[in-house]
Amino acid sequence: PGMDVVTHRVAMLGAPGVGKSALISQFMTSECINAYDGMRDVPKEQSVSIMLNGEESELQFVNYGTLKELEAGQPCAALVMMFSVVDKSSFQKTEMDLQRLQELGMLRNRAVILVANKVDLARSRAVSTQDGKCLACTYKAKFIEVSVGINHNVDELLVGILTQIRIKATQT
Ligand code: GDP
Repeated sequence: PGMDVVTHRVAMLGAPGVGKSALISQFMTSECINAYDGMRDVPKEQSVSIMLNGEESELQFVNYGTLKELEAGQPCAALVMMFSVVDKSSFQKTEMDLQRLQELGMLRNRAVILVANKVDLARSRAVSTQDGKCLACTYKAKFIEVSVGINHNVDELLVGILTQIRIKATQT
């Protein structure tokens, strides 16, 4: 990226198996963006650069296994909280994580996006759209349903993350 491109760190949080790694991989292959591996010595980080409204930004995704890692990590501009609609316990984990992050004051001044993944597995669905919307509403988060598997709403999510980051930046 050019020297004048702003970089934003995006923290990904969610139960194992919900599709966090798959999502980051999909972002990297997305059209109209310029993806590359992040710093060589930080293998968990991957970046994409996005041109939106005539302005280029780089999003650096960091996959966090646990809240503790997130708390200990560097500050991030956005929090992407992911669960799987076929895994009720992953939704419950996200509920608990959001509550904890709220208590820690970590939801303030940053974009928070709740992502329901695996909507392609409609017949195994265990978490309704309404449940997801309600949770997002409680914490003033954005909500989007995606399927990384069939590449449904993945580009929309990527643009949504950057849009929310820019909105938050103008508010503070
Ligand atoms: P992580 O532990 O959160 O990083 O989860 P992974 O990215 O490793 O994904 C776990 C499994 O779910 C993998 O086998 C993925 O192929 C699968 N997976 C991810 N997204 C989807 C999806 O949208 N639909 C379906 N059917 N499977 C998915």
